[in-house]
Amino acid sequence: MAANYNPGSDIASGGAQPHPDSSTPPISGDTPRITPPTSIQAQAGNGNTVQSIHPDSHEGIPNPRDRAIQDMAIAIIEKAIAIEASDIHINPEKDRTRLRYRRDGVLHEQEPLDRAKFAPLASCLKIMASLDIAQRWIPQDGRIRLEYGDRHIELRVSTYPTIDGESIVMRILDKDTTLPDTGDLGLSERDMREFNKVINRSGGIFLVTGPTGSGKTTTLYSAINSLDSHHKHIVTIEEPVECELKDINQGEIKEKRGFGFAQALRALLRHDPDIILVGEIRDGETAETAFRAANTGHLVLSTLHTNSAVSAVTRLKDLGVESFLVGSSLLASLGQRLVRKICPDCIQEVQPRQRDLESVEHLGVKATDTFFAGKGCTKCHNTGYKGRIGIFELFALDDEMRDMISHNLAEKDLLEYARRGGMTTLLEDGLTKARAGLTSLLEVARVL
Ligand SMILES: [Zn+2]
Repeated sequence: MAANYNPGSDIASGGAQPHPDSSTPPISGDTPRITPPTSIQAQAGNGNTVQSIHPDSHEGIPNPRDRAIQDMAIAIIEKAIAIEASDIHINPEKDRTRLRYRRDGVLHEQEPLDRAKFAPLASCLKIMASLDIAQRWIPQDGRIRLEYGDRHIELRVSTYPTIDGESIVMRILDKDTTLPDTGDLGLSERDMREFNKVINRSGGIFLVTGPTGSGKTTTLYSAINSLDSHHKHIVTIEEPVECELKDINQGEIKEKRGFGFAQALRALLRHDPDIILVGEIRDGETAETAFRAANTGHLVLSTLHTNSAVSAVTRLKDLGVESFLVGSSLLASLGQRLVRKICPDCIQEVQPRQRDLESVEHLGVKATDTFFAGKGCTKCHNTGYKGRIGIFELFALDDEMRDMISHNLAEKDLLEYARRGGMTTLLEDGLTKARAGLTSLLEVARVL
């Protein structure tokens, strides 16, 4: 069974979906089963036994170490893995416990869980994640490591105290997932050519921009995975390491211990790197250090939270990087979103609906144009979609552009110049993919 690599983590709006999925099929008999972590049989993380500190355990509520509760926890996780979900959301409410799975970036509602079993279930999951089950009023985060068939699965567990109890979200990280080749990311021919040019440079900085869950990290992983790791020293600074790569030194920041992106980057510069992947640039110190590295013969790859590729320039200046430094060291900025791919088993032609048309008609989409959508079938768990693909806009810098940036020209002037040079926007790339039947018009409208 091939797991999808789903880096998305934000709570995306459900959007307008043709086939809201509420019924995922049960796991079949030949599906691999989870080997539970040993922590579930051991004591709670703080050394106390569950019985002695769990106030509910004597009140007729099932004990979190009861077999039935453990089985319930395992079944929830197993089903999530079986349907290739990226996250599990368990949210207690007044009279029910919601269970949702995120698949291809969108949450899907499941049968609610028995409210009476929520407290022991939450405790059971917290024991598995080595969290303190006596603490229910502060957020906690931990991890659960599992074997699933021959795959190594890690769950990042985070709890958040709500007025109805602790909300639990688990991100599923499959350490054995295969990364897409750069050629399979979804870049157009022109963008692919520029992308390859940029990632093979020996110095400068390349940024992938977009909101959380837009696939930025996967793109960078694929990029460094395609580079020569034998003759180049490739190192990463991440939070967290989402996928383990062969022949690449991956570091994980520990903010609580004072090991943040900027500190890690400074230490790395004394560590003889050729290529550095910085998980994210989100403060001035990291931005400045990254540009210093890029300016001294290192290729730096990183991500930035901006809406468009060109707005990376403004964002970097806002973070305190000097215009001339942005102009001289930035190689390119790649804007990215992820759209769900239409299921090839139930794809059909559709005409755009009036309300969808309004948002894209300025691009020449007409009511008579043909687009595509998935009808929903067993192969796609009735969602009409299977897997995801990126939509992109690549803002690459030439000498004229560097000059314009150094002279602080406005974003719209930079964009206009780039467009004259052949740059396509996220919306244009999305529409091209929708017209080709790779995704639906609704998906493009959902993510942009
Ligand atoms: Zn289908």
